[in-house]
Amino acid sequence: MKHRDPKREGQTLLFMVLALVIITVAVLWMADVHHIISVKDRSQNAGDAAALAGARWQGTTLNFIGELNLMHAAALAIGDFQAIDVITNTQKRLCFTGPMTGVAAAQQGAKLNGMHVNEDFTDFVREHADEVRNDYAAIVGGTSAMPEPWPGAWMEYAAMLDAIADDGVAAGIDNASFFNDPGGGHVLLMLEFYDAIAARDWCWFFMTRPHLLEDYTDYTWWGALPQQGARASSSSEFLGLWLTPQTRTFAEITAIDGVLEEAQRLSIDVPQTSLLPQIAGTASTWCYYMSGMWDRWGAMDPPFPVEGEVKPQYDYAGADSVMRVEAGISRFMSGGGGTDAEDVIVWTGAAKPFGYLETDGGEENPTSARLVLPAFREVRLIPIDASSASSGGSFNLRWRRHCVEHLPIYIKQGPAALPPCRYCRRLVTWERPEFRAEGVGWLSTNSWQCTISPPGDGPGGGTRRAH
Ligand SMILES: [Zn+2]
Repeated sequence: MKHRDPKREGQTLLFMVLALVIITVAVLWMADVHHIISVKDRSQNAGDAAALAGARWQGTTLNFIGELNLMHAAALAIGDFQAIDVITNTQKRLCFTGPMTGVAAAQQGAKLNGMHVNEDFTDFVREHADEVRNDYAAIVGGTSAMPEPWPGAWMEYAAMLDAIADDGVAAGIDNASFFNDPGGGHVLLMLEFYDAIAARDWCWFFMTRPHLLEDYTDYTWWGALPQQGARASSSSEFLGLWLTPQTRTFAEITAIDGVLEEAQRLSIDVPQTSLLPQIAGTASTWCYYMSGMWDRWGAMDPPFPVEGEVKPQYDYAGADSVMRVEAGISRFMSGGGGTDAEDVIVWTGAAKPFGYLETDGGEENPTSARLVLPAFREVRLIPIDASSASSGGSFNLRWRRHCVEHLPIYIKQGPAALPPCRYCRRLVTWERPEFRAEGVGWLSTNSWQCTISPPGDGPGGGTRRAH
């Protein structure tokens, strides 16, 4: 008779249970990894598709505005001033309606690639529509509080925002530039400052704000936050084209390289000299590229591209489209961490319309003449670092809440009154004198390390925003 050994039997059972636990954990872990990878792929496709859709509308609108410039020349040649009025009014409206159509198209692009409506983004757009209706359009001394690009513009714009919110927002426009936002430049409004605190990236301070660590005393040191930035309301808040009206004569316009060639290509009849002798010196309003916004990539900081060269005919910044999508992931296994652990995958895609003018000399940069001409032929994805996305991203709502709601509290009452937000926690760290002393100490012997590796290459990572 075999004798059953209860001790051995117990051990076998224990091994089986352990094996089962290990297999279960492995399976769940694999399921998590697969799930995360598929959500990440989906987010990337959706964000890129949204960015491309936005950029396509920017290119189309720029071309249309350029064609209207040529029609303006044709109308002026025969002295049809009524037509010119219609053309300039249409151009002003297109600077808003074209980009807003791009915003709507971007939502379709994101949704068709499997992205769901983001309730927070949708609420934010709806709240902004109310802000436009109540604050921008508020009548102060007979005119609206924010100068209108055309009469009644703010009410029409608010209705467009409502229509987009009604369909549901899936992609946030991360390079939106709001008319009522504070002017830039303040270190408290730079996400990089908070990243540098979290990573103890002392080199960031050395390279960007060299005396801040030594000079800083406490929150009273900051003074007031910047006031609302003065921003031309001729360019849309979302997917802005960055164009500006300029007064020029017929003679000046027809002398621009490419104007007559482009008109001929589109069968728009612009005689080189006006049919009416008094027209040549007549000034009217034309749509131009805003200088400072459509400068060369090389003039940007940091320069783009990091490696290689951009062909001169494609070398311009200006209008671009940056779209953020956020996808929640449900995990089988807890990621641990505190209340701040986020199970959200964020992808920000950036794209830009590209093109060139065909002149006798070959392909030329579309901004070379400053006058907008139909030149845009394609859209391409660009690196997020080369885009016009604001620090942190305009639809990074957690960051936005910090800037809009928490910073005024901090400036007035200091760190003790701050809510439990991740950026506020970094300000609490920043307020500790020992923290700043640690940085001063490190830099006193190690600052040479900062100059050999550029600031972004420190612990914070090479890109402005992690994907
Ligand atoms: Zn905060």
